[in-house]
Amino acid sequence: MKTIGMLGGMSWESTVSYYKAINEGVKQSLGGLHSAKIALYSVNFDEIEKLQRVGDWEQAGVVLGEAAKSIQAGGADFLLICTNTMHKVLPQIEQYIDIPVLHIADATANKLLEDGISKVGLIGTAFTMEQDFYKCRISENFGIEVIVPEHQEREVIHRVIYDELCQGQILAESREKYINIIDSLRRRGAEAVILGCTEIALLVEQEHTQVKLYDTTKIHAEQAVMLALAN
Ligand code: GLU
Repeated sequence: MKTIGMLGGMSWESTVSYYKAINEGVKQSLGGLHSAKIALYSVNFDEIEKLQRVGDWEQAGVVLGEAAKSIQAGGADFLLICTNTMHKVLPQIEQYIDIPVLHIADATANKLLEDGISKVGLIGTAFTMEQDFYKCRISENFGIEVIVPEHQEREVIHRVIYDELCQGQILAESREKYINIIDSLRRRGAEAVILGCTEIALLVEQEHTQVKLYDTTKIHAEQAVMLALAN
């Protein structure tokens, strides 16, 4: 079994979901007392969030690059960056390591292709919804059209992620807002919606909507297990 490197803590609430999903996946495949081999580095998210807010992506890349280097030194065979947003600094992180990175957007887009989805809605942080590093990777490399919520809806999605979900607050009224936004994406032609932030599934699950949801945390964790167990 390969050792899975996890660059986590962004936020730790979602790293818990990853840790559980990965271990459950290994247990499901191998049974008994089997569990995943993991090298985890969990950052202080307050430090990262401040850098995001002032737009100092370069320094964020240094912090995460150093962390990734420790994960590699800890024996990881490949790396998961356990957040969609911080894939923005993937090129910087890659300069610190030799092990491969399993990209969260690629993992998700492969799943969408498998299911024949050609137009998808994307919800996540403002950085993920508005900048090119994520959307363009899916549209250009996989030929899937990506649409995002309207401006005011994006503000709601972003605020709830940082003020509630990353702080462990799960509120029914926010779930309602998310479900309405997901529904408006469907009305604009989305055949499915990517939960493009690793905390969103803590709030919205498949049972809450008829629209097909692609939870990036779950997909990323599943593909990591497959890779760890492949010969
Ligand atoms: N976990 C989130 C994501 O998947 C947001 C936190 C962050 O900015 O890293 O994008």
